Amino acid sequence: MADDLRRTSTPRATRTNLVHAGTRRSQYGEVSEAIFLTQGFVYDSAEQAEARFIKAGDDEFIYARYGNPTVAMFEERIATLEGAEDAFATASGMAAVSGALMSMLAAGDHVVSSRALFGSCLYVLEEVLTRFGVEVTFVDGTDLDQWRAAIRPDTKAVFLEAISNPTLEVIDISAVSDLAHAVGATVLVDNVFATPILQRSLDLGADVVIYSATKHIDGQGRVLGGVILGTRDFIRGTVEPYMKHTGGSMSPFTAWLLLKGLETLDLRVRAQTATADHLARGLEAHPKLARVLYPGLTAHPQAATAAAQMEGGGTVLSIDVAGGQEAAFRVLNALQIFTISNNLGDAKSIVTHPATTTHQRLPDDQKDALGITPGLIRLSCGLEDMNDLLADLQAALDTA
Ligand SMILES: *Cc1c(COP(=O)(O)O)cnc(C)c1O
Repeated sequence: MADDLRRTSTPRATRTNLVHAGTRRSQYGEVSEAIFLTQGFVYDSAEQAEARFIKAGDDEFIYARYGNPTVAMFEERIATLEGAEDAFATASGMAAVSGALMSMLAAGDHVVSSRALFGSCLYVLEEVLTRFGVEVTFVDGTDLDQWRAAIRPDTKAVFLEAISNPTLEVIDISAVSDLAHAVGATVLVDNVFATPILQRSLDLGADVVIYSATKHIDGQGRVLGGVILGTRDFIRGTVEPYMKHTGGSMSPFTAWLLLKGLETLDLRVRAQTATADHLARGLEAHPKLARVLYPGLTAHPQAATAAAQMEGGGTVLSIDVAGGQEAAFRVLNALQIFTISNNLGDAKSIVTHPATTTHQRLPDDQKDALGITPGLIRLSCGLEDMNDLLADLQAALDTA
Protein backbone atom coordinates (compact mmCIF):
# COMPACT_ATOMS: atom_id res chain seq x y z
CA MET A 1 0.00 0.00 0.00
CA ALA A 2 1.24 3.46 -0.86
CA ASP A 3 0.78 6.05 1.80
CA ASP A 4 -0.40 9.61 1.52
CA LEU A 5 0.73 12.29 3.94
CA ARG A 6 0.94 10.13 7.00
CA ARG A 7 4.69 9.75 7.33
CA THR A 8 5.60 13.33 6.54
CA SER A 9 7.64 15.15 9.14
CA THR A 10 6.27 18.60 8.26
CA PRO A 11 3.58 19.61 10.76
CA ARG A 12 0.30 20.37 9.03
CA ALA A 13 -2.73 22.35 10.13
CA THR A 14 -5.91 20.73 11.43
CA ARG A 15 -7.95 21.11 8.24
CA THR A 16 -5.22 19.47 6.17
CA ASN A 17 -4.87 16.59 8.62
CA LEU A 18 -8.63 16.07 8.75
CA VAL A 19 -8.67 15.47 5.00
CA HIS A 20 -5.43 13.51 4.58
CA ALA A 21 -3.95 12.06 7.80
CA GLY A 22 -3.91 8.28 8.01
CA THR A 23 -4.85 7.67 4.37
CA ARG A 24 -3.75 4.25 3.13
CA ARG A 25 -4.17 3.66 -0.62
CA SER A 26 -4.47 0.24 -2.20
CA GLN A 27 -2.81 -0.71 -5.51
CA TYR A 28 -5.81 0.88 -7.31
CA GLY A 29 -4.98 4.39 -6.13
CA GLU A 30 -8.55 5.21 -5.08
CA VAL A 31 -9.27 8.86 -4.13
CA SER A 32 -11.87 8.12 -1.47
CA GLU A 33 -10.72 5.79 1.31
CA ALA A 34 -11.52 2.14 0.62
CA ILE A 35 -13.90 0.22 2.86
CA PHE A 36 -12.25 -3.08 3.70
CA LEU A 37 -15.37 -5.08 4.54
CA THR A 38 -13.43 -8.15 5.52
CA GLN A 39 -13.34 -10.09 8.73
CA GLY A 40 -9.98 -11.71 8.08
CA PHE A 41 -6.73 -11.54 6.07
CA VAL A 42 -4.85 -14.14 4.01
CA TYR A 43 -1.22 -15.06 4.70
CA ASP A 44 1.27 -15.99 1.94
CA SER A 45 2.69 -18.83 4.00
CA ALA A 46 2.43 -20.62 7.31
CA GLU A 47 5.62 -18.82 8.37
CA GLN A 48 4.05 -15.42 7.60
CA ALA A 49 0.96 -16.31 9.65
CA GLU A 50 3.16 -17.37 12.56
CA ALA A 51 5.23 -14.17 12.36
CA ARG A 52 2.16 -11.97 12.27
CA PHE A 53 0.72 -13.63 15.38
CA ILE A 54 4.01 -13.00 17.17
CA LYS A 55 4.01 -9.31 16.20
CA ALA A 56 1.82 -7.63 13.58
CA GLY A 57 3.46 -4.63 11.88
CA ASP A 58 1.79 -1.29 11.10
CA ASP A 59 0.09 -2.38 7.91
CA GLU A 60 -0.44 -6.01 8.87
CA PHE A 61 -3.80 -7.28 10.05
CA ILE A 62 -5.04 -10.55 11.54
CA TYR A 63 -8.74 -10.30 12.33
CA ALA A 64 -11.17 -7.36 12.19
CA ARG A 65 -11.83 -7.43 15.93
CA TYR A 66 -8.08 -6.73 16.39
CA GLY A 67 -7.80 -4.17 13.59
CA ASN A 68 -8.73 -3.42 9.96
CA PRO A 69 -7.22 -1.07 7.34
CA THR A 70 -10.27 1.25 7.21
CA VAL A 71 -10.47 1.36 11.01
CA ALA A 72 -6.69 2.01 11.18
CA MET A 73 -7.12 5.00 8.84
CA PHE A 74 -9.75 6.45 11.18
CA GLU A 75 -7.58 5.81 14.25
CA GLU A 76 -4.58 7.49 12.69
CA ARG A 77 -6.55 10.49 11.42
CA ILE A 78 -8.20 11.22 14.76
CA ALA A 79 -4.96 10.61 16.70
CA THR A 80 -3.29 13.21 14.46
CA LEU A 81 -6.17 15.64 15.10
CA GLU A 82 -6.01 15.17 18.88
CA GLY A 83 -2.20 15.22 19.03
CA ALA A 84 -2.24 11.77 20.64
CA GLU A 85 0.32 9.02 20.08
CA ASP A 86 -2.33 6.45 19.31
CA ALA A 87 -6.06 5.66 19.26
CA PHE A 88 -8.35 2.64 19.48
CA ALA A 89 -11.70 2.83 17.68
CA THR A 90 -14.75 1.30 19.34
CA ALA A 91 -18.28 0.26 18.42
CA SER A 92 -19.88 3.16 20.32
CA GLY A 93 -19.01 5.96 22.70
CA MET A 94 -20.00 3.76 25.62
CA ALA A 95 -17.72 0.94 24.42
CA ALA A 96 -14.96 3.57 24.58
CA VAL A 97 -15.87 4.85 28.06
CA SER A 98 -16.38 1.41 29.58
CA GLY A 99 -13.37 -0.05 27.73
CA ALA A 100 -10.99 2.69 28.85
CA LEU A 101 -12.06 2.27 32.48
CA MET A 102 -12.38 -1.53 32.61
CA SER A 103 -9.06 -2.09 30.83
CA MET A 104 -7.07 -0.11 33.41
CA LEU A 105 -8.89 -0.77 36.70
CA ALA A 106 -8.93 -3.73 39.09
CA ALA A 107 -10.73 -4.60 42.32
CA GLY A 108 -9.56 -2.38 45.17
CA ASP A 109 -8.77 0.61 42.94
CA HIS A 110 -10.14 4.06 43.74
CA VAL A 111 -11.66 6.42 41.15
CA VAL A 112 -12.81 10.02 41.54
CA SER A 113 -15.40 11.27 39.05
CA SER A 114 -17.46 14.38 38.48
CA ARG A 115 -21.13 13.72 39.26
CA ALA A 116 -22.73 15.52 36.30
CA LEU A 117 -22.28 12.76 33.71
CA PHE A 118 -23.98 11.38 30.62
CA GLY A 119 -26.48 8.81 31.99
CA SER A 120 -24.67 5.71 30.70
CA CYS A 121 -21.29 6.96 31.97
CA LEU A 122 -22.86 7.38 35.41
CA TYR A 123 -24.22 3.81 35.17
CA VAL A 124 -20.78 2.36 34.32
CA LEU A 125 -19.08 4.20 37.20
CA GLU A 126 -21.85 3.81 39.78
CA GLU A 127 -23.29 0.37 39.00
CA VAL A 128 -20.72 -1.63 36.99
CA LEU A 129 -17.27 -0.72 38.33
CA THR A 130 -18.45 -0.91 41.94
CA ARG A 131 -19.74 -4.45 41.31
CA PHE A 132 -16.18 -5.47 40.52
CA GLY A 133 -14.79 -3.94 43.72
CA VAL A 134 -13.74 -0.53 42.39
CA GLU A 135 -14.46 2.31 44.81
CA VAL A 136 -15.86 5.46 43.16
CA THR A 137 -16.13 8.89 44.81
CA PHE A 138 -18.33 11.48 43.06
CA VAL A 139 -17.65 15.22 43.32
CA ASP A 140 -19.10 18.46 42.01
CA GLY A 141 -16.72 18.84 39.07
CA THR A 142 -16.65 22.64 39.21
CA ASP A 143 -15.54 22.69 42.88
CA LEU A 144 -11.75 22.20 43.10
CA ASP A 145 -11.93 21.79 46.89
CA GLN A 146 -14.10 18.70 46.40
CA TRP A 147 -11.57 17.20 43.96
CA ARG A 148 -8.76 18.02 46.41
CA ALA A 149 -10.61 16.32 49.28
CA ALA A 150 -11.57 13.24 47.25
CA ILE A 151 -8.27 12.46 45.49
CA ARG A 152 -6.17 10.19 47.75
CA PRO A 153 -2.63 8.85 47.53
CA ASP A 154 -4.06 5.56 46.23
CA THR A 155 -6.44 7.11 43.63
CA LYS A 156 -5.85 5.31 40.33
CA ALA A 157 -8.02 7.32 37.94
CA VAL A 158 -9.95 10.55 37.61
CA PHE A 159 -12.88 10.71 35.18
CA LEU A 160 -14.74 13.80 33.98
CA GLU A 161 -16.80 15.25 31.17
CA ALA A 162 -15.13 18.55 30.29
CA ILE A 163 -18.54 20.16 29.72
CA SER A 164 -21.42 18.54 31.55
CA ASN A 165 -24.70 17.49 30.00
CA PRO A 166 -27.24 19.14 29.99
CA THR A 167 -26.33 22.12 32.22
CA LEU A 168 -23.01 22.82 30.43
CA GLU A 169 -20.81 23.30 33.48
CA VAL A 170 -17.14 23.62 32.57
CA ILE A 171 -14.47 21.74 34.52
CA ASP A 172 -10.95 23.16 34.86
CA ILE A 173 -8.96 20.32 33.28
CA SER A 174 -5.52 21.74 34.10
CA ALA A 175 -6.30 22.21 37.78
CA VAL A 176 -7.91 18.77 38.17
CA SER A 177 -5.05 17.14 36.23
CA ASP A 178 -2.47 18.76 38.54
CA LEU A 179 -4.25 17.33 41.59
CA ALA A 180 -4.53 13.88 39.97
CA HIS A 181 -0.93 13.79 38.73
CA ALA A 182 0.38 14.71 42.19
CA VAL A 183 -0.72 11.21 43.30
CA GLY A 184 0.08 9.49 39.99
CA ALA A 185 -3.56 9.05 38.93
CA THR A 186 -4.58 8.81 35.25
CA VAL A 187 -6.91 11.58 34.00
CA LEU A 188 -9.61 10.42 31.57
CA VAL A 189 -11.67 13.13 29.85
CA ASP A 190 -14.91 12.47 27.95
CA ASN A 191 -14.59 15.36 25.51
CA VAL A 192 -17.80 14.98 23.47
CA PHE A 193 -19.32 18.39 24.23
CA ALA A 194 -16.05 20.34 23.91
CA THR A 195 -15.08 18.54 20.64
CA PRO A 196 -11.48 17.95 19.46
CA ILE A 197 -11.75 21.15 17.39
CA LEU A 198 -12.47 23.56 20.25
CA GLN A 199 -10.44 21.97 23.06
CA ARG A 200 -7.02 20.27 23.22
CA SER A 201 -7.46 18.21 26.36
CA LEU A 202 -4.09 16.44 26.21
CA ASP A 203 -2.29 19.81 26.17
CA LEU A 204 -4.38 20.84 29.19
CA GLY A 205 -3.17 17.81 31.17
CA ALA A 206 -5.49 14.92 30.35
CA ASP A 207 -3.83 11.53 29.84
CA VAL A 208 -6.68 9.84 28.00
CA VAL A 209 -9.37 11.44 25.82
CA ILE A 210 -12.59 9.65 24.91
CA TYR A 211 -15.19 10.48 22.24
CA SER A 212 -18.57 9.26 21.25
CA ALA A 213 -17.99 9.61 17.48
CA THR A 214 -21.77 9.25 17.15
CA LYS A 215 -21.99 12.98 17.90
CA HIS A 216 -19.96 15.66 16.04
CA ILE A 217 -17.46 13.30 14.38
CA ASP A 218 -20.16 11.58 12.32
CA GLY A 219 -22.28 14.70 12.64
CA GLN A 220 -24.97 13.40 10.35
CA GLY A 221 -26.83 10.99 12.61
CA ARG A 222 -25.86 7.82 10.74
CA VAL A 223 -23.79 5.55 12.99
CA LEU A 224 -22.66 4.74 16.52
CA GLY A 225 -18.92 4.88 17.13
CA GLY A 226 -16.32 5.81 19.70
CA VAL A 227 -12.61 6.23 20.21
CA ILE A 228 -10.04 6.17 23.03
CA LEU A 229 -6.90 8.29 22.60
CA GLY A 230 -3.71 8.31 24.65
CA THR A 231 -0.07 7.21 24.73
CA ARG A 232 1.00 4.27 22.55
CA ASP A 233 1.72 2.35 25.77
CA PHE A 234 -1.77 2.90 27.15
CA ILE A 235 -3.59 2.26 23.85
CA ARG A 236 -1.63 -0.78 22.67
CA GLY A 237 -0.60 -2.12 26.09
CA THR A 238 -3.76 -1.60 28.15
CA VAL A 239 -6.76 -0.77 25.94
CA GLU A 240 -6.15 -2.94 22.86
CA PRO A 241 -5.79 -6.30 24.68
CA TYR A 242 -9.02 -5.63 26.57
CA MET A 243 -11.00 -4.35 23.58
CA LYS A 244 -9.87 -6.94 21.07
CA HIS A 245 -10.76 -9.80 23.40
CA THR A 246 -14.05 -8.40 24.73
CA GLY A 247 -15.54 -7.42 21.36
CA GLY A 248 -16.31 -3.69 21.32
CA SER A 249 -14.35 -2.99 18.12
CA MET A 250 -15.51 -0.62 15.37
CA SER A 251 -16.85 -1.96 12.07
CA PRO A 252 -15.02 -0.97 8.83
CA PHE A 253 -18.18 0.61 7.41
CA THR A 254 -18.56 2.80 10.50
CA ALA A 255 -14.89 3.79 10.26
CA TRP A 256 -15.41 4.81 6.63
CA LEU A 257 -18.39 7.05 7.49
CA LEU A 258 -16.41 8.60 10.34
CA LEU A 259 -13.43 9.28 8.03
CA LYS A 260 -15.84 11.21 5.81
CA GLY A 261 -17.17 12.96 8.92
CA LEU A 262 -13.67 14.02 9.98
CA GLU A 263 -13.06 15.68 6.60
CA THR A 264 -15.71 18.32 7.41
CA LEU A 265 -15.49 18.30 11.23
CA ASP A 266 -13.66 21.61 11.61
CA LEU A 267 -16.04 23.44 9.25
CA ARG A 268 -19.14 21.98 10.88
CA VAL A 269 -18.11 22.50 14.52
CA ARG A 270 -17.12 26.12 13.88
CA ALA A 271 -20.38 26.87 12.02
CA GLN A 272 -22.48 25.15 14.70
CA THR A 273 -20.60 26.99 17.45
CA ALA A 274 -21.22 30.36 15.74
CA THR A 275 -24.93 29.47 15.63
CA ALA A 276 -25.05 28.40 19.30
CA ASP A 277 -23.34 31.64 20.26
CA HIS A 278 -25.82 33.66 18.17
CA LEU A 279 -28.81 31.89 19.77
CA ALA A 280 -27.42 32.25 23.31
CA ARG A 281 -26.92 35.99 22.85
CA GLY A 282 -30.24 36.40 21.08
CA LEU A 283 -32.17 34.66 23.87
CA GLU A 284 -30.15 35.77 26.91
CA ALA A 285 -32.60 38.51 27.92
CA HIS A 286 -35.79 36.75 26.74
CA PRO A 287 -38.62 37.40 29.26
CA LYS A 288 -39.93 33.80 29.06
CA LEU A 289 -36.57 32.31 30.06
CA ALA A 290 -35.30 31.88 33.64
CA ARG A 291 -31.78 30.90 32.50
CA VAL A 292 -29.70 30.64 29.33
CA LEU A 293 -26.75 28.29 29.85
CA TYR A 294 -23.89 28.60 27.38
CA PRO A 295 -20.13 28.48 28.14
CA GLY A 296 -19.52 31.35 25.69
CA LEU A 297 -21.65 33.86 27.63
CA THR A 298 -19.85 36.14 30.10
CA ALA A 299 -22.67 35.42 32.58
CA HIS A 300 -21.76 31.68 32.60
CA PRO A 301 -20.42 30.69 36.07
CA GLN A 302 -17.23 29.18 34.56
CA ALA A 303 -16.86 31.69 31.70
CA ALA A 304 -13.19 32.31 32.55
CA THR A 305 -12.31 28.60 32.54
CA ALA A 306 -14.22 28.13 29.29
CA ALA A 307 -12.38 31.03 27.65
CA ALA A 308 -9.01 29.72 28.87
CA GLN A 309 -9.41 26.13 27.70
CA MET A 310 -11.86 26.30 24.78
CA GLU A 311 -11.91 28.10 21.47
CA GLY A 312 -15.60 29.07 21.53
CA GLY A 313 -18.50 27.94 23.71
CA GLY A 314 -19.47 24.78 21.82
CA THR A 315 -22.41 23.70 19.69
CA VAL A 316 -24.94 23.15 22.50
CA LEU A 317 -26.85 25.56 24.74
CA SER A 318 -29.58 25.01 27.30
CA ILE A 319 -32.50 27.29 28.10
CA ASP A 320 -34.79 27.14 31.12
CA VAL A 321 -38.38 28.08 30.33
CA ALA A 322 -39.91 29.99 33.23
CA GLY A 323 -43.26 28.14 33.19
CA GLY A 324 -41.82 24.69 33.96
CA GLN A 325 -42.53 21.42 32.13
CA GLU A 326 -45.90 22.45 30.68
CA ALA A 327 -44.43 25.58 29.11
CA ALA A 328 -41.30 23.71 27.98
CA PHE A 329 -43.43 21.08 26.23
CA ARG A 330 -45.42 23.82 24.46
CA VAL A 331 -42.13 25.24 23.16
CA LEU A 332 -40.88 21.82 22.01
CA ASN A 333 -44.13 21.09 20.22
CA ALA A 334 -44.24 24.52 18.53
CA LEU A 335 -40.72 24.33 17.03
CA GLN A 336 -40.73 23.92 13.24
CA ILE A 337 -37.02 23.53 12.35
CA PHE A 338 -35.59 21.99 15.54
CA THR A 339 -36.59 18.33 15.76
CA ILE A 340 -37.35 16.57 19.05
CA SER A 341 -34.69 13.89 19.49
CA ASN A 342 -31.74 13.14 21.77
CA ASN A 343 -28.61 13.12 19.62
CA LEU A 344 -26.30 16.13 19.50
CA GLY A 345 -23.67 17.49 17.15
CA ASP A 346 -25.88 16.61 14.17
CA ALA A 347 -26.30 18.68 10.99
CA LYS A 348 -29.97 18.89 11.97
CA SER A 349 -30.80 21.05 14.98
CA ILE A 350 -32.17 18.95 17.81
CA VAL A 351 -34.15 19.83 20.92
CA THR A 352 -34.23 17.63 24.04
CA HIS A 353 -36.17 17.81 27.32
CA PRO A 354 -33.65 16.16 29.69
CA ALA A 355 -35.91 15.81 32.77
CA THR A 356 -38.37 13.54 30.95
CA THR A 357 -36.01 11.73 28.55
CA THR A 358 -32.20 11.44 28.91
CA HIS A 359 -32.25 12.08 32.67
CA GLN A 360 -35.70 10.63 33.46
CA ARG A 361 -34.11 7.76 35.48
CA LEU A 362 -32.62 10.14 38.08
CA PRO A 363 -34.52 10.68 41.34
CA ASP A 364 -35.89 14.22 41.79
CA ASP A 365 -33.31 15.21 44.42
CA GLN A 366 -30.48 14.32 42.02
CA LYS A 367 -32.15 16.25 39.20
CA ASP A 368 -32.35 19.25 41.55
CA ALA A 369 -28.71 18.87 42.56
CA LEU A 370 -27.68 18.79 38.88
CA GLY A 371 -29.88 21.75 37.92
CA ILE A 372 -32.11 19.63 35.65
CA THR A 373 -35.26 21.65 36.18
CA PRO A 374 -38.69 20.88 34.61
CA GLY A 375 -38.32 23.87 32.28
CA LEU A 376 -34.84 22.97 31.03
CA ILE A 377 -34.44 22.43 27.27
CA ARG A 378 -31.17 21.40 25.59
CA LEU A 379 -30.56 22.75 22.09
CA SER A 380 -28.01 21.14 19.77
CA CYS A 381 -27.34 23.56 16.93
CA GLY A 382 -27.12 22.13 13.43
CA LEU A 383 -26.07 23.57 10.11
CA GLU A 384 -29.27 25.44 9.23
CA ASP A 385 -29.24 29.25 8.90
CA MET A 386 -28.75 30.78 12.37
CA ASN A 387 -31.42 33.45 11.91
CA ASP A 388 -34.00 30.87 10.84
CA LEU A 389 -33.22 28.95 14.04
CA LEU A 390 -33.48 32.07 16.21
CA ALA A 391 -36.81 32.98 14.62
CA ASP A 392 -38.03 29.38 15.17
CA LEU A 393 -37.17 29.62 18.87
CA GLN A 394 -38.66 33.08 19.31
CA ALA A 395 -41.94 32.01 17.71
CA ALA A 396 -42.06 28.85 19.85
CA LEU A 397 -41.32 30.82 23.04
CA ASP A 398 -44.34 33.03 22.28
CA THR A 399 -46.51 29.96 23.02
CA ALA A 400 -44.86 29.29 26.40
C1 LIG B 1 -23.42 10.21 23.65
C2 LIG B 1 -22.41 10.28 24.72
C3 LIG B 1 -21.77 9.12 25.18
C4 LIG B 1 -22.10 7.75 24.66
O1 LIG B 1 -21.88 7.58 23.29
P1 LIG B 1 -22.65 6.51 22.39
O2 LIG B 1 -21.97 6.66 21.07
O3 LIG B 1 -24.09 6.87 22.39
O4 LIG B 1 -22.40 5.18 23.01
C5 LIG B 1 -20.83 9.26 26.19
N1 LIG B 1 -20.54 10.47 26.72
C6 LIG B 1 -21.14 11.61 26.30
C7 LIG B 1 -20.78 12.91 26.94
C8 LIG B 1 -22.09 11.55 25.29
O5 LIG B 1 -22.70 12.68 24.88
